[in-house]
Amino acid sequence: MSTGSMWAKTELDVIVIGGGAAGMMAALQAAWAGARVALLEKNEKLGKKIYITGKGRCNVTNACDTEDFFRQVPRNSKFLNAAVRQFGYEDVTSLLSMLGTETKVERGNRVFPVSDKASDVTRALARGMKDAGVQVELNTAVKSVVKENGVFAVALAQGGMLYAKSVIVATGGLSYPSTGCTGDGYAFARENGHTITPLCGSLVGLTIDEKWPKLLMGLSLKNVRVSAVQGKKKIYDEQGEMLFTHFGVSGPLIIELSSHMPDDFASVNVTLDMKPALTSEQVDLRLQREFSENVRKQLSSVLVTLMPSRMGPVFAQLCGLSPEQPINQITREQRMTIGRMLKALPLHVTGTRPIEEAIVTRGGVNVLEVAPGTMMSKMTEGLFFAGEVLDVDAHTGGFNLQIAFSTGALAGRSAAAYTEEA
Ligand SMILES: Cc1cc2nc3c(=O)[nH]c(=O)nc-3n(C[C@H](O)[C@H](O)[C@H](O)COP(=O)(O)OP(=O)(O)OC[C@H]3O[C@@H](n4cnc5c(N)ncnc54)[C@H](O)[C@@H]3O)c2cc1C
Repeated sequence: MSTGSMWAKTELDVIVIGGGAAGMMAALQAAWAGARVALLEKNEKLGKKIYITGKGRCNVTNACDTEDFFRQVPRNSKFLNAAVRQFGYEDVTSLLSMLGTETKVERGNRVFPVSDKASDVTRALARGMKDAGVQVELNTAVKSVVKENGVFAVALAQGGMLYAKSVIVATGGLSYPSTGCTGDGYAFARENGHTITPLCGSLVGLTIDEKWPKLLMGLSLKNVRVSAVQGKKKIYDEQGEMLFTHFGVSGPLIIELSSHMPDDFASVNVTLDMKPALTSEQVDLRLQREFSENVRKQLSSVLVTLMPSRMGPVFAQLCGLSPEQPINQITREQRMTIGRMLKALPLHVTGTRPIEEAIVTRGGVNVLEVAPGTMMSKMTEGLFFAGEVLDVDAHTGGFNLQIAFSTGALAGRSAAAYTEEA
């Protein structure tokens, strides 16, 4: 691309940095609102992260009502109020439909393209941008964004400079850096007076103090319950599937739990209930029955009826017992311990896996410094933010892409309106 020469200083209204979900939506909406828009993407193609969402199927949004939506956003949900009300899930699905990609609703109100192809979402948005006249520049990484004499000067990594009346930063977070998300937007925010709240991974595996999960690496438990309590407050309590790993725990239940965890991990008591369908009393009755029917056997022969065989020996040791312990030598107190551990096996969470492995980044551009009604910076007029670069993240279920689309649409429309007035 020839820069500087392609657009004179006043030719561009809006430069969008980042061709992910938020950036493409922002560019499309700004162009539809009449702005002259360029979208700069450092990768060789658009929407590299979209391709891997929903295991390649792209859980594009969630067909829940707005109040439900906000319950899925653990932090800063109020900041999203205007964005989500102005551009909610029905706006996403009808826009995609208009651009040739039909969607369907699955379990838990999760919305996917009918084709089950994430690439169809990117293709639709790319088609929309093309028709709307957005100038898309691939292999174009932005190095810095500075406002000089009322105009934004956007420096490119390959050299050269572009100018526009406004800039939308939609560079994503820090997770899955192979998709292009290397945190560049935080530097652009900082050079324009913003603060970045602490960054860590969310929707990610958890490291735990206990060493025993390593012995069970690769073992997944189905139909278990994971609960987390902080002081007297229950912060998580869900049933489903989890996985033991070399670092601790992962799998759907744990990944979801990670987005509910407060910063102070040590203040949270996490427990695993391996028999969620039974009360503690029913578990004890079951143990009494199993023990009386297997008096001459070893503890391990009863444990296999209660959990995957690989877990039995580890579990016995966690109860302070040997798997070879003859059933007829197990005391009432020991039986009670087994019951207690079946219902509430403690997991002491020490942290999250690295941000690079996370589905989303927690933390980002401080939302107190961004106007929620427009997504415009309160520090540098004409600068807008959209998507994961902001300090907002949500649970799994299509909510993170909806955040990208809602904030992108609002930023795009607001930037177009701003440049019209400027
Ligand atoms: C494995 C995985 C599965 C997921 N599945 C789902 C799902 O099914 N549903 C859901 O709702 N969410 C899902 N998410 C989360 C969701 O993908 C993100 O929250 C969302 O894509 C964020 O959109 P964004 O546009 O803000 O950022 P991104 O999609 O990350 O896009 C940012 C873009 O900016 C570009 N960029 C960065 N820096 C520069 C620069 N200096 N110059 C030019 N371009 C730059 C990047 O190359 C990138 O293309 C998933 C995430 C992962 C990792």
